[in-house]
Amino acid sequence: AKDAGRNSYCFYNAVMGERNYEDLALEHGLRKALEGGLLHLAWQPKIDVVSRRWVGMEALLRWHDPDLGEVSPLQFIPLAEKLGLIETLGDWVLDQVCQQLGQWIKRGYRPMPVSVNVSARQLVDADFAACIFRRLKACGVGSELLELELTESCLILEQEDGEYQLLDQLHAGGVTLSIDDFGTGYSSLSYLRKLPLSVIKIDASFVRELPGNREDGQLVKAIIGMATALGLEVVAEGVETRAQATLLQGLGCHVCQGYWLARPASTEQISQWLRESGE
Ligand code: C2E
Ligand code: CA
Ligand code: CA
Ligand code: CA
Repeated sequence: AKDAGRNSYCFYNAVMGERNYEDLALEHGLRKALEGGLLHLAWQPKIDVVSRRWVGMEALLRWHDPDLGEVSPLQFIPLAEKLGLIETLGDWVLDQVCQQLGQWIKRGYRPMPVSVNVSARQLVDADFAACIFRRLKACGVGSELLELELTESCLILEQEDGEYQLLDQLHAGGVTLSIDDFGTGYSSLSYLRKLPLSVIKIDASFVRELPGNREDGQLVKAIIGMATALGLEVVAEGVETRAQATLLQGLGCHVCQGYWLARPASTEQISQWLRESGE
């Protein structure tokens, strides 16, 4: 059976060029998941480690497939980008987040900014900002509660003035823009003075080996120093230990995200926490 599997893999590879059997199964599954309501969101809290307050959260896409099991976004997001499905997927996420925020507000929970990951291709749509404002309004959500996490790859692609205008529109309308995975994207730093960014997220790869790794410690220190000098807020991601949180706090990074503080949680779990934290 193993050999048959390998043969069919070769067959698909030969016939369809770079596309292999696993990709095809994923593609089929992803299209079905989109139509069939198999996608949902997880929410990971951001915590101010100094005040111990819960200050925001990040919405993370989840796909639980009856045949394929739990598929990681690290696998299906790049696929969706390749297949041209990311705009649809991204719209779905933005809809869900705005609706959920609207629901929490109606229930009287303490308002908490939510950040959404955005792919470069979504920024190509000139109506992107207008669509966001329309959604927020329809759900009764203030724009200060929405944050968009862009990666450096979004910004190298979007060299043209049109896209910078888009980011200016979002910023002017009160949406917070942050740069995700900072320092991993092979881009120059010039975007930091050109774009209306408010937050830098230190990538988990710089945090992972703290406090043991001296070079990483120096890099993180330099990033925090630069961000602070530019008037940007810093958030560290992938914080897995108390020692990491303590070090980051000492260097001036107060907002952390990671397993040590809270894992991504279901909508039900988050709703319960929000209810309890408002009491
Ligand atoms: P990201 O934006 O850098 O999100 C952080 C990832 O790290 C999440 O993985 C999160 O679950 C994980 N994480 C959080 N704390 C820790 C920790 O302490 N240790 C470790 N090892 N990992 C931690 P996830 O949910 O699997 O998402 C992976 C990536 O997929 C995200 O990376 C993001 O780039 C992308 N993604 C997820 N949802 C969306 C979405 O709605 N739209 C787009 N365009 N991309 C998304
Ligand atoms: Ca992110
Ligand atoms: Ca990140
Ligand atoms: Ca990352």
